[in-house]
Amino acid sequence: MIIRTVKLNLKILFFLIIVTLLIMSLILSYVLANTEAPSQKAEKKDFIKWVDFKITSSALEKTAKLDIDSHNNNEKVKYNWIELLAYLACKNGGDFKKFKQKDLDSLIEKLKSGNTISNLTKDIKYYNYYYESYNAVLGGFIGDYQIEVVNSNGAKTMEKKYGIKAFLPIAKNYNFSHYDDFGNSRSYGFKRTHLGNDLMGSIGTPIIAVESGIVENIGWNQYGGWRVGIRSLDTKRYYYYAHLRKDHPYSEELEKGQIVKAGDVIGYLGMTGYSIKENVNNINVPHLHFGMQLIFDESQVDGSNEIWIDVYNIVEFLKKYRSEVYMENQETKDYARKFDFYEDSVME
Ligand SMILES: [Zn+2]
Repeated sequence: MIIRTVKLNLKILFFLIIVTLLIMSLILSYVLANTEAPSQKAEKKDFIKWVDFKITSSALEKTAKLDIDSHNNNEKVKYNWIELLAYLACKNGGDFKKFKQKDLDSLIEKLKSGNTISNLTKDIKYYNYYYESYNAVLGGFIGDYQIEVVNSNGAKTMEKKYGIKAFLPIAKNYNFSHYDDFGNSRSYGFKRTHLGNDLMGSIGTPIIAVESGIVENIGWNQYGGWRVGIRSLDTKRYYYYAHLRKDHPYSEELEKGQIVKAGDVIGYLGMTGYSIKENVNNINVPHLHFGMQLIFDESQVDGSNEIWIDVYNIVEFLKKYRSEVYMENQETKDYARKFDFYEDSVME
């Protein structure tokens, strides 16, 4: 009799525990589902948080040539240099100092014999990461464009082309020097690293828009001095040109929101910056500070999530592509590009 009562009580106790656990788990799941704030949900968005850009100028040249020639010769297989570079990055871990010509040759052979990039890369873990990263850096560099040319009887006409449609930030026929100074330490203000490439040249050297885009920031900045920031039309790149000339930093009428075309004169090389006060020359050696920031999500525009890449190899690569200028206005001494340019993404 005593044994039976104990057994019965144990059954009831067990039942009560199960019911309590069920109720508790229901409450817990309800609370969890309803306490997640919208901002927390937004943070879960998947986008690239960091990029180390380590493609050498020679790898850029080789893949660009394959891309451009295959289009201009209307070859059966047309290459996309960003796809080629992303594939090679999977072989060398993104460090193109380890580039092997045979990797590129065998990829080209495979593509020529009918394979597609998507077939060849479908099982490679990091291909999409490299493709998206390199597309953010180089997405506006190759494509269709029109450029003004002078024909034999001196008349100017627009000629359609496929090729490099980005320009070196220093105008044609102006000297400059540079070395890979990305990540060097800087002491003005607070201890920080150098997030660009310094192009040393003479004061007044016309500065060229590398790519078409929209003027996002213009004016004085304590570090950059007179500076201009231009966002690419696909919104993934922010070009930063700093330390522009005292008194006359910018090309006439350059203003926020304005569209500039690749190869346009945007300003003049100088030595302004390192001062809270405006229009002060506090930089020792005249130079253009040139930088590129990648933006995969607007939360990366300002603050600790910024991604700046080393543009040294890009400057080396662009040395062959320069915009010729002339003094357009004798009074203001403003320069303008000599040969007009047009690309479809730029609405005029
Ligand atoms: Zn700099």
